[in-house]
Amino acid sequence: MIHRHQPRTENRSDGHSEAITGHPGADGQLRPALHRLTDAIALLCDPHLEVVAGRHRHTPSWYQQLRDSLAGGQSEGGGGARLVPIWADALDLLIEIDTAVACWQPAGTSTPDRLRAIEHHWTTTGRPQDCRQIDQISGIVTSWVTGQGGIRRLLTEERRWTLPNPCPACGTAIAYRKDSGGATVRIPALQISPTGCACAACRTVWPPDKFEWLARVLGYEMRYNTTGS
Ligand SMILES: [Zn+2]
Repeated sequence: MIHRHQPRTENRSDGHSEAITGHPGADGQLRPALHRLTDAIALLCDPHLEVVAGRHRHTPSWYQQLRDSLAGGQSEGGGGARLVPIWADALDLLIEIDTAVACWQPAGTSTPDRLRAIEHHWTTTGRPQDCRQIDQISGIVTSWVTGQGGIRRLLTEERRWTLPNPCPACGTAIAYRKDSGGATVRIPALQISPTGCACAACRTVWPPDKFEWLARVLGYEMRYNTTGS
C-alpha cells in the first residue's frame, strides 16, 4: 500500500481531504490554524537560539526567562540589579499568563504543560468551526512574547520604567515635557532603563552600578542574583 503524503496545502480541492480531525474539508482552515497554535506555544515555551554579540547560544524559553527574572535568577547579561517596579511589570505579566492559561485548561501542573494539553486537545478534536477560537488563543500567546507589553520587550529591549519618587538630586517628582502633538504632559521625573536612571528634570543620571544606592535612598528593596545560579 502506498501512502501518499499530502503536502500541507491550505486549500485542497481534491474532495477527499482526510482532515486530521476526521472532518472532511477541515484541512482548509483548521490545519493552518493548528500550525499557528503550535508555533505560538513553541514561541512561548520552547528554548531557542539567540544571537548574542554575533554568537549563537541556547537560551531558556521566554516563559522560563520571565519566571527566572522574578526568582532573582536573572540571566547573565541581564543587567544585574533591577528595581522593584520592573519586577512588578514582570510579575503582572506572569500572573496574566498563568491565569489565562489555567482558565483555558484548568488541569495541569504548569503553564507550558497546560498549553501542550490545549494544543493536544485542538489537534485531536478541533473542527473547522473552532478555527476562530484556536486563532484567538494563538494570537494571545504570541502577544505575550512579542506584543507591546510582551516578555521580549520587558526583558531584553531597552525600555524605560518610571519611579514615583522625587529625584534625590533635585527633589522633583513630576517633570513636564511636550508630547509628539506639542501638548505639555506630566511624566514621572525618574526614568529607568537598563543603562541607568535619569531625572527628566535636572538630567542627573545614575548608572546601573548606582542602582543599589539609589534604591536604598528611595526606600526600595533590591533583589540580586547573588547565588550565581
Ligand atoms: Zn532631578
